[in-house]
Amino acid sequence: MALIVQKYGGTSVGNPERIRNVADRVAEWHRRGDRIVTVVSAMSGVTDSLIKLAREVCEEPAEREMDVLLATGEQTTISLLAMALHSVGIPAVSLTGAQAGIVTDGRHTKAKIANITPGQVRKHLDNGEVVIVAGFQGQTMEGQITTLGRGGSDLTAIAIAAAIKADVCQIYTDVDGVYTADPRIVPNATKIQEISYDEMLEMAGAGSKVMQARSVEFAKKFNVKFEVRSSFNNNPGTIVKEETKSMEHVVVRGVSVEKNQAKVTISGVPDQPGIAARLFQTIAQAGVNVDMIVQNVSQSGETDITFTLHKDDVKKAHKVAASISELSAARAVTVQEGIAKLSVVGIGMRSHSGVASSLFAALSAQGINIQMISTSEIKITVVIDEARAAAAAQAVHDQFGLNITPQG
Ligand code: ADP
Ligand code: ASP
Ligand code: MG
Repeated sequence: MALIVQKYGGTSVGNPERIRNVADRVAEWHRRGDRIVTVVSAMSGVTDSLIKLAREVCEEPAEREMDVLLATGEQTTISLLAMALHSVGIPAVSLTGAQAGIVTDGRHTKAKIANITPGQVRKHLDNGEVVIVAGFQGQTMEGQITTLGRGGSDLTAIAIAAAIKADVCQIYTDVDGVYTADPRIVPNATKIQEISYDEMLEMAGAGSKVMQARSVEFAKKFNVKFEVRSSFNNNPGTIVKEETKSMEHVVVRGVSVEKNQAKVTISGVPDQPGIAARLFQTIAQAGVNVDMIVQNVSQSGETDITFTLHKDDVKKAHKVAASISELSAARAVTVQEGIAKLSVVGIGMRSHSGVASSLFAALSAQGINIQMISTSEIKITVVIDEARAAAAAQAVHDQFGLNITPQG
């Protein structure tokens, strides 16, 4: 008899039939005698349409109100799943994030979990009930509703698994595991059997949205081993766990693509201490997340600074950059949209050389221009034209033989 946390994502609970399908699957585990906590997302598309609705009534909705609104998506699915379980004779109870004891800080729309007091979860489990918890939401100490950032139901599941010391944590989604690339972009991508937290974290952060990056960070910190698998079949999934020696043999584990990026260049910035600090402090204060930053070698006391960010943040960043450049007498601020980031990730890169040159060769063979490059210990990222992103991903995937090498 195991204590299991299962998370079902938006597509898996996307309509009444799918909710009944999830209920049947959960019922099966319950009948076997396992104790089940089920975390669910909003039905697919619901969070997006709530965001759209908000923008239709207000250009810049207050983040507190966004959280009150967005939390309704998950609240709908927990109650529906409880009802579906009741109708197949399984005792089940739905709990909001607050009722499940998820306490967060007050950063609305991207709150961090401060602690979990899972008393109610335990009580209902002890009663023999399936406990259904609303993903993505929590509550501050002061009782304000918060949400955990897009894709945050993954985090709810991992955090609850850590808090109740679950034996197993399963993330059910619409693919049967983590693949060497998004199968929607690279059709011959292959399923990875095991991946380290660090690789999963880098892939998630670089655009592989199969797991929310913050949830992987949390899993690593609290050593929660989890499995990503499909809610539509019973295939074995991908195990995400701490690194083992044998994982290093695979040089490139996967390819990630992040579209909808933009870059801002400030040219002719006086090359003196304090400018970058002022620029990026002000941008951070405006709530904009900056990703890659490149500064050119200084020529005659001037330099160029380029950074990438999500295209939705361009307006804000442009405003900030323009105001700073005025202050520091820069020559121009230019913005370019329509770019994408492509990354290759693998812990084997620590001990193998030549990955960068292979990556560049694959892109050059396709005539794809590299606009920016950045590297970390286990990742290389390039910025390219968004229109060529799919072709680039396929070429790089082929280059590293990811479609044929069995991924251990
Ligand atoms: P859920 O609603 O279950 O949370 P998501 O849409 O957030 O599901 O994540 C699943 C999707 O992630 C898949 O449909 C797939 O297109 C995408 N994806 C991106 N990169 C990968 C990858 N490397 N492996 C598997 N799926 C990926
Ligand atoms: N419903 C939220 C979102 O769409 C959280 C989640 O699905 O994990 O981002
Ligand atoms: Mg998701």
